[in-house]
Amino acid sequence: MRVGHGYDVHRLVAGRPLVLGGVVVPSEVGLDGHSDADVLTHAIIDALLGAAALGDIGSHFPDTDEEWRGADSLDLLRTVVKRLGDAGFRVGNVDATVVLQRPKLRPYVDAMRETLAAGLGVSLNRVSVKATTGEGMGFVGTGEGAAAHAVALIEEDR
Ligand SMILES: [Zn+2]
Repeated sequence: MRVGHGYDVHRLVAGRPLVLGGVVVPSEVGLDGHSDADVLTHAIIDALLGAAALGDIGSHFPDTDEEWRGADSLDLLRTVVKRLGDAGFRVGNVDATVVLQRPKLRPYVDAMRETLAAGLGVSLNRVSVKATTGEGMGFVGTGEGAAAHAVALIEEDR
């Protein structure tokens, strides 16, 4: 078994959808970035790649590459799971925390877990998503951006 950690941040701006864990959350602001800027899925991708020592999201999907402009991060997640599989690993479980001041994410957490579990190819009870705020402090608390943390356990498939 191997463990990996992922962390990501994106800026919140008007005129963009707020996509978290593949779920569009109703919001006046959304995350800015080259892809759909799904900060939660990006942190999970980095945790998976980290566990396998296969680099990071930027090395697999460069933001200088037009191919990934506006990319659905769930597609990137599925690609990473396949690359892990090719390297002899399968996903054990994932635990992640989104840090966002508003809106409240609790009503959407189960949909995120279901979407991520499908993308990861694992059962729902192997995917945990938690949400917290910045308590009004720092770039999260002021609504400037959002962050996500994730850990992933992968198993050598032999
Ligand atoms: Zn990102």
